[in-house]
Amino acid sequence: MGSTMSQKRLWPAAVLLFLTTVAAVQCSTARRGTATGSDGALLEKETEMTRKVQKTDKGWKDSLTAEQYRVLREAGTERPFTGKYNDHQEAGTYACGACGSRLFASETKYDHGTGWPSFTAPVDKSRLELREDRSHGMVRTEVRCAACGSHLGHVFNDGPAPTGEHYCINSIALDFLQSGQPGEMKKEGTETAVFAAGCFWGIEDKFSRMKGVMSTRVGYTGGRTKNPTYKKVCSDTTGHAESVEVVFDPKILGYEELLEAFFRFHDPTQINRQGPDVGTQYRSAIFYLNEAQKDAALKLIVKLDASGQFDRPIATQVLSASEFYPAEDYHQKYYEKLRSGK
Ligand SMILES: [Zn+2]
Repeated sequence: MGSTMSQKRLWPAAVLLFLTTVAAVQCSTARRGTATGSDGALLEKETEMTRKVQKTDKGWKDSLTAEQYRVLREAGTERPFTGKYNDHQEAGTYACGACGSRLFASETKYDHGTGWPSFTAPVDKSRLELREDRSHGMVRTEVRCAACGSHLGHVFNDGPAPTGEHYCINSIALDFLQSGQPGEMKKEGTETAVFAAGCFWGIEDKFSRMKGVMSTRVGYTGGRTKNPTYKKVCSDTTGHAESVEVVFDPKILGYEELLEAFFRFHDPTQINRQGPDVGTQYRSAIFYLNEAQKDAALKLIVKLDASGQFDRPIATQVLSASEFYPAEDYHQKYYEKLRSGK
């Protein structure tokens, strides 16, 4: 079923790609005729033992959308001028869409006019793996993510000064982390989770006591207002939820365990309230940072709903993480400060 679906979806894309490649040859690769998978298997075979992130081909299929899989694992190319980061100007970091390794800083992004995000340099050359690509009668340099081996795009030498390099990268191969967004500044080897479960003071306190949690911050996320204040959020007009960002070490504490704790720490069946605190800022929500977190959250909700553990259905929203605005200093570690009398 998977391959039929992707073929259906890819057919018109392949035709459009052919039409648009005339104008823009550079990023346009490669293997657009092979919609179903041999290259994915090839990438898998080539996976070296040294890769930090290793998954089976099925693992990649499960964690990526069909289009992400086609580009990242089958060395496909998205149609030019269609990717969400082609004309994207915000400050932040671009990470590998497959494994989250941070690859390019927004300061190095520029418009090359070819219809794909272009960069003059990676965050660090060791984050990328370059390979000769002789497909389509051209000799080009393919760019892969060094951590997981996924295909990202190509690099050319027609970029602007000072490097003269032009990293031409598929938008769909990237995830953008806005400056200040959870996860952007995280330490190597850690992961970030974001939850909303009512008043953030108590929730932060509970998460911060878990073994494997490296740091926590409270803040506002999921709404419309930029740089909201506590007062604004409490007026229930910003759309933001009181939230806690949890940075954890996945070798000690799994995301699933954090999810289970999240459901223990509050009543996930209440809608836009927790006990006496009423308003959308007190809603129950999981803000996922990648597809694996989303899948884990949805799976656990189905399991809990079926278990009969709660007498009403779970009302928790599962939403893609957006910008996280840290709350004012006096809200940070609030209970810890109370306990220490500061
Ligand atoms: Zn990667």
